Amino acid sequence: MSRTIEHLIGGARVAPEGPRRAPVFNPATGEQVADLGLATVAEVTRAIDVAAEAFPAWAATPPARRARVMFRFKELLEARADDIARAISAEHGKTHADALGEVARGMEVVEFACGIPQLLKGEYSRNVGPMIDSFDMREPLGVVAGITPFNFPAMVPLWMFPLAIAAGNTFVLKPSEKDPSAALLVAELAHEAGLPAGVLNVVQGDKEAVDALLSDPRVEAVSFVGSTPIAQYVYATGTANGKRVQALGGAKNHMVILPDADLDQAVDALMGAGFGSAGERCMAISVAVPVGEGTADRLIEKLAPRVEAMKVGPATDPDAEMGPLISEIHARKVRGYIDQGVAEGARLVVDGRDFRLQGYEGGYFVGGTLFDRVTTDMAIYREEIFGPVLSVVRSGSYEDAVAMINAHEYGNGTALFTRDGDAARDFIARVRIGMVGVNVPIPVPVAYHSFGGWKKSLFGAHHIYGPEGVKFYTRLKTVTQRWPTGIRSGAQFNFPAMG
Ligand code: NAD
Repeated sequence: MSRTIEHLIGGARVAPEGPRRAPVFNPATGEQVADLGLATVAEVTRAIDVAAEAFPAWAATPPARRARVMFRFKELLEARADDIARAISAEHGKTHADALGEVARGMEVVEFACGIPQLLKGEYSRNVGPMIDSFDMREPLGVVAGITPFNFPAMVPLWMFPLAIAAGNTFVLKPSEKDPSAALLVAELAHEAGLPAGVLNVVQGDKEAVDALLSDPRVEAVSFVGSTPIAQYVYATGTANGKRVQALGGAKNHMVILPDADLDQAVDALMGAGFGSAGERCMAISVAVPVGEGTADRLIEKLAPRVEAMKVGPATDPDAEMGPLISEIHARKVRGYIDQGVAEGARLVVDGRDFRLQGYEGGYFVGGTLFDRVTTDMAIYREEIFGPVLSVVRSGSYEDAVAMINAHEYGNGTALFTRDGDAARDFIARVRIGMVGVNVPIPVPVAYHSFGGWKKSLFGAHHIYGPEGVKFYTRLKTVTQRWPTGIRSGAQFNFPAMG
């Protein structure tokens, strides 16, 4: 191991100068694969300096030209998708197919950003008063920052910077220090696509780098995705410093299964949504809510053998359905939650605590785990576990299921499985959750809609990417314009009354 992961400042890779380093591991083996220089305040300040210098020219570049960079960027992402996926899996551990899916979903945002000339168009009203016209336009903010989590090392950065940059801002990205290589590769491809130096910068780091971004007055806006306590901190600190902030936090997503649902379809959906990416997705389903004892019994009967048979392995195994967790500490935490669930009286149907993989004994694996008869007072229900642990909470009625979801502090995603359109309409109307699926377990909006939760899953007024993303990364300027008629009618000195 000798690789040091660098920053990307002013269009070039920059070796870290500070003394602090963080190790990066291969989660499938537990081996260190690289280290990372944690940015100093001076390094972050330099990234903001170059971003601020690049801003006026980039903001003045016609949107159609900025869009052309996005078109080329999209082509390069497509051509290099396999390499990006490999970089993701090497440090995150998710399967190659899952990593490719992540790249594809990130690429969608680049496609959306290609339409930026259309998206920035304002409104125009002629004759708002005699000879007076009014129009508005959306202008970029300046330097904006993105702070991203470990679980989607390429996709979440792609939720942010393509749209911010296409809108005319310049950007400083601070990826997760646990798996930073994919974001760096993606940022280099954006430069290869023709991005001028300084428009997109990447600083590797931890809290020190985040705090430097939050306190520099030149950073106009911050997009954050990560856990709720840090989202709250970033939102409070950023807004106190006068910045626009969108901070997306943690989740606990319920899937309600009504007695009339296609149970085989629901079980398939739960397997993918509960255990894909080892449950380390903010849109993972971590709570299944069958309505009625009969539905619950049938669900457990079908689910248990599937969870037991799930193939867990390293990303290099093409048959693996799920990989390891991100770190040894996190794997220990997830096993601790399983211990706690047992202690609190939930019925452990499938136990993944002792999962071991020959040849990968140092890996951070936890097997698929299924709990039945979980109740809402248990920690495994209330808290985000972020691992391959699915809890079944039996509900006596549809009404109780809706009330339970609405009472939970998180409000990211939810799903309802049913054949009853009337129930589905009612669910959509009454559930206090930002993203709702009907017979769709992971309702992540496509790039031309926007992504975001309610309650403690998002702090700030704007959801991320899509039309809300355009609003977040721009501000409105409204012009009221009158051209004197001059010689035709002479000067007018009274205050103009419109209409
Ligand atoms: P995290 O909160 O630990 O880290 C996120 C980012 O914040 C990282 O870049 C990290 O370096 C930085 N950070 C960590 N501690 C900090 C501190 N004390 N001060 C300032 N910055 C700090 O999250 P994670 O473990 O990387 O990611 C998993 C979490 O992200 C889960 O809770 C998951 O639900 C959430 N998530 C949410 C969404 C969403 O869209 N709502 C999407 C993906 C992940």
